[in-house]
Amino acid sequence: MALRVVQEVLEAIAAHAREAAPQECCGVLLAESGASGAVTAVLRAENAEPDRPERRYRLDRATQLAALDLEIEGRTEVVGYYHSHPAGPPSPSPTDVAEAIPETLYLICGLGAGLPEFAVWRSGEGRLTPVPLEAADG
Ligand SMILES: [Zn+2]
Repeated sequence: MALRVVQEVLEAIAAHAREAAPQECCGVLLAESGASGAVTAVLRAENAEPDRPERRYRLDRATQLAALDLEIEGRTEVVGYYHSHPAGPPSPSPTDVAEAIPETLYLICGLGAGLPEFAVWRSGEGRLTPVPLEAADG
């Protein structure tokens, strides 16, 4: 099944990726509960990775808790997470595979080709499988 993402969200992720470069940016993909399942908003996180933030990412704790709060309120669902590859393609790194939470969607924005490239991956069985990305109307 494809992941549908509204255009403004893709633009927001690309902008975040460019601002954060040469470090990786990261954040949470949100959809309205009970709606079409399309990603309609994101929550920007700080990259809390202490060692090599240009090669790895870790969502800061406050943002993780904020996402949980939104879910508890019941209007928003956490669909997955996004991060950027400032100098590469939007393909998962070995770390992305190793640290993936099972049955979660990961959107990667790669800036290696100049223009932002997006790809979505679903985790499971120790690997990340590509998922089609569809642009949705806002
Ligand atoms: Zn990555």
